[in-house]
Amino acid sequence: MTADLTSAIMLRPGDPGYDEAATTYMRTGRPALVVQPRSRAGVAAGIQHAVDHHMVLSVKSGGHSALAYGTNDGGVVIDLSGLDSIDVLDDATGRVRVGAGATWGEVATTLGVHGLSLTSGDTKSVGVGGLTVGGGIGWMVRNHGLTIDSLVAADIVTAAGEELPLNDDQNSDLFWAIRGGGGNFGVVTSFEFLAQRVTRVHAGTITYSVGDVSGLLRGWCDAHRAGPHELNSTLVLMPAFGDEMPAMAIGMVCYSGADQAAADAAFAPLLALDGVVSAEIAEKTYADVLEEAHPPPGVTAMATNTLIESVSDEVVAEVADWYAGGTAGRLAFVRALGGAVGRVSSGATAFAHRTAEAMLVGAAFLPTDATTEQLVQELRPFDSIKALGIGAYPGFLGNPNDDVTDVYPAPTLQRLREVKRRYDPTNVFSHNLNVRP
Ligand SMILES: Cc1cc2nc3c(=O)[nH]c(=O)nc-3n(C[C@H](O)[C@H](O)[C@H](O)COP(=O)(O)OP(=O)(O)OC[C@H]3O[C@@H](n4cnc5c(N)ncnc54)[C@H](O)[C@@H]3O)c2cc1C
Repeated sequence: MTADLTSAIMLRPGDPGYDEAATTYMRTGRPALVVQPRSRAGVAAGIQHAVDHHMVLSVKSGGHSALAYGTNDGGVVIDLSGLDSIDVLDDATGRVRVGAGATWGEVATTLGVHGLSLTSGDTKSVGVGGLTVGGGIGWMVRNHGLTIDSLVAADIVTAAGEELPLNDDQNSDLFWAIRGGGGNFGVVTSFEFLAQRVTRVHAGTITYSVGDVSGLLRGWCDAHRAGPHELNSTLVLMPAFGDEMPAMAIGMVCYSGADQAAADAAFAPLLALDGVVSAEIAEKTYADVLEEAHPPPGVTAMATNTLIESVSDEVVAEVADWYAGGTAGRLAFVRALGGAVGRVSSGATAFAHRTAEAMLVGAAFLPTDATTEQLVQELRPFDSIKALGIGAYPGFLGNPNDDVTDVYPAPTLQRLREVKRRYDPTNVFSHNLNVRP
């Protein structure tokens, strides 16, 4: 049977809209065919076309994969941007259905009108599809958990073109796998979440000088351990960029609740740390906290990460060493976890590292003509931080040498492979952080 492509828009090189559809955040590809489904049947047709013609298959929701898996050269891209509906199914329970091709900025704005929001990521243009199947870490992660912790159902199209409902009672093995196992098991067309009733938050930045990086890291982590779970943050250790921008640390903070006094109390220990240069924190809507992101101009970057159970003195020393060393611009991000992340048992979803108190991200910046190998070399010293971690978060893995064994504990990976063998035995969905059957 040949693929019926009438349920989708087909774009080939030269067609209007092709260039945009072939482009992702990290890279512009040149696929032979872009399939923009209008329905689940269009998704199935795109999969079948790739299988019939032995072509590489990319699945693109928001196109923010750090390794540009959402595009390819010479293959098929299923671009889900048209499946972007956002519906409140039940105001009372906050149950919402979101198309995989919607972006988190659109979700925040639409749900905000209903007094709702969803624990997701920090960037407007990131896609619902890719972030959710990786886990989802954002400004409400410590009080409302990962994005997958609010997921109650989904619809998927499998490698065989079957349309399956996923929830705790139907195809529950697959429902478990898509909550952290990435794009290995099919194309999720829509997700149903129980949204949060957070509308107004207190958020902004605290800027520090970086005279004592170790002291700052220790104080930062202590404040989060003692603080409320509404306190969410990312601390960024930035190198100097030219003469105009000195090295500094920027704490991006969000108290995910409306209470002014409680927010002030949560921020107070961070504002009392040595080296504060300035602070700009204000009450705003949750949608206003999400940011636009653009790849930094004039440089090429690569990132990797590890999840850390306890930011001990040893970890602090390694991060300070990483930040101080190197020939290029090196950044370190400390993203606070803990709280609600740990309320879910490690076997309940394919995101298993529930005991992490922080995610540490290392990023290297080099001039635009640097090769992938040079970037990989620049990231190599981060391995000594990884050695202290329990595994990586797939969303922030941009090093092509990182693989599934860096992400999943052995029992989780074994279970993912069993699900893979059941639903995608020939590895149709291989252009991703690949779980082999
Ligand atoms: C600027 C930037 C900011 C980010 N901020 C955050 C953040 O705050 N929190 C966080 O957790 N992550 C964040 N990320 C990481 C992000 O979650 C991952 O890169 C994610 O994969 C992007 O999803 P996407 O849909 O935009 O990307 P895509 O490139 O479209 O998808 C990435 C991969 O996910 C899989 N996939 C996508 N859609 C589907 C689908 N519908 N069904 C099945 N599989 C699918 C495919 O394997 C695909 O190759 C950020 C990334 C960037 C570049």
